[in-house]
Amino acid sequence: MSTTLAATPPAEYVPRDTADVVRTVRDSRPRPLTIRGGERGGEHEDRPVAPDRRVVLSLRRMNRVQAVDADARLVRVQAGARLSDIDRTLGAHGLGLPVVGDHREITAGGFAAVGGLSAASHRYGMFSDNVVSLEYVDPEGRFGTCGRTHHSERFHRILGSAGRAGIITALTLEAVEVDKDRTWLTSDAHRFLDFDTFVEHSLAEINRPGDALLQVGRWVDTAPLRVARPVGSGQLQLGTVRFGQWSSLHPATATPSLRARRELGARARKGLGAIASHASGRAAMPVRHAAAGALMFSPKVLTLRDAEYLADTVISSSGERGPAYRVAVFAPLSSYHSVFHRLHDLLTERREHADCFTVISAQTYGVRSPYLHDQVGEDHGYISFTCRLRPPSNYPGKRGTPELLHDIDAAVDDICASERGQRYHIPH
Ligand SMILES: Cc1cc2nc3c(=O)[nH]c(=O)nc-3n(C[C@H](O)[C@H](O)[C@H](O)COP(=O)(O)OP(=O)(O)OC[C@H]3O[C@@H](n4cnc5c(N)ncnc54)[C@H](O)[C@@H]3O)c2cc1C
Repeated sequence: MSTTLAATPPAEYVPRDTADVVRTVRDSRPRPLTIRGGERGGEHEDRPVAPDRRVVLSLRRMNRVQAVDADARLVRVQAGARLSDIDRTLGAHGLGLPVVGDHREITAGGFAAVGGLSAASHRYGMFSDNVVSLEYVDPEGRFGTCGRTHHSERFHRILGSAGRAGIITALTLEAVEVDKDRTWLTSDAHRFLDFDTFVEHSLAEINRPGDALLQVGRWVDTAPLRVARPVGSGQLQLGTVRFGQWSSLHPATATPSLRARRELGARARKGLGAIASHASGRAAMPVRHAAAGALMFSPKVLTLRDAEYLADTVISSSGERGPAYRVAVFAPLSSYHSVFHRLHDLLTERREHADCFTVISAQTYGVRSPYLHDQVGEDHGYISFTCRLRPPSNYPGKRGTPELLHDIDAAVDDICASERGQRYHIPH
């Protein structure tokens, strides 16, 4: 039986099995359900719902890794199983998940429900491409199964629907042969001050990744910084920072010196993470930005496991960096260059005219997804932009923010329509 933890709104249900989920969905209708994968999920509700109308269904107790078939390289899990726990179980069989999210709490159901990308997507596509079959409960409370070879249309509708097409309750996933703690990587990093060259380099690396196990490009572009004068009143305007880095992480043989460098790097990251999370208040904002930025650029030497959870070190601090507008697009490689430039021009132009954003940053890597490939006949590059919204008190056009963001959204849709791009929906 499902367990109601809170009688006061929002009601939370924590089912233990699929039959529980069926009952919860049927009993809660017609109230909308908010699905939470694990402990720290649920920040992405895309429909505004009054708290007393909200029913939260958390899959955190449906968290078992049920079976590993090492010969077939398959693992069957409940939807609330954390990717990090699945990976640990697979590790005992010399296997691992090909695509994992950027923090340890992400669940298999939650990741499959949004598609799921990582810096390994240039090799393995989306997390959802590695799902073989799943069990689900549809919005009417009916149980069903589907997979690559049966009810495949429904299968693809549920994957990436963020729960709207059905609640995933169990999945069978493909694994790969890997030892993530003993796979050593060295980072081949290229730095750029000019956006055009950064984009060209990124496209060349996405097209020819060689033996890179991970790849990622990051671009940061700050608005002119305004800081209080150290003496007297008023503000000083400092210059902008425009900087990009492409990192390809290649396999390396572990040597004592590599191990020592990794140890040093891990300590430095831990220290920076601590600085970022202890700096508090508005005045410390630049410190947190700087620490988070420094941590996000790949270090020189690390293991595959270190690399996969690098962002975990800064997650608590990055959450404090204020509201942001995010947009993410899958661009076919033939129009990657044009999509990247058009998105960049759109966002920097809006920043210039409306003064709404401070830092504009971009992330990019290749996505070799069989599912996406089938739709346009080629591979894709993932391009995402995060634009930090200027604090409302300093932003003259603050009343117009929702309209402005709506206009930007419409312009992004136009870019996608004309360039055969597809949006990856990250709620703002
Ligand atoms: C749209 C989106 C895309 C993201 N993409 C990435 C990414 O590519 N790489 C990355 O590292 N991080 C990504 N994140 C951030 C975060 O890692 C993901 O949200 C991840 O899915 C969180 O997992 P969770 O298990 O905590 O789920 P939650 O945060 O609780 O839920 C995430 C979404 O999945 C739905 N959901 C959760 N469990 C289920 C289920 N069992 N069945 C059906 N729907 C469910 C929820 O309704 C919600 O819409 C993304 C976030 C969002 C919202």
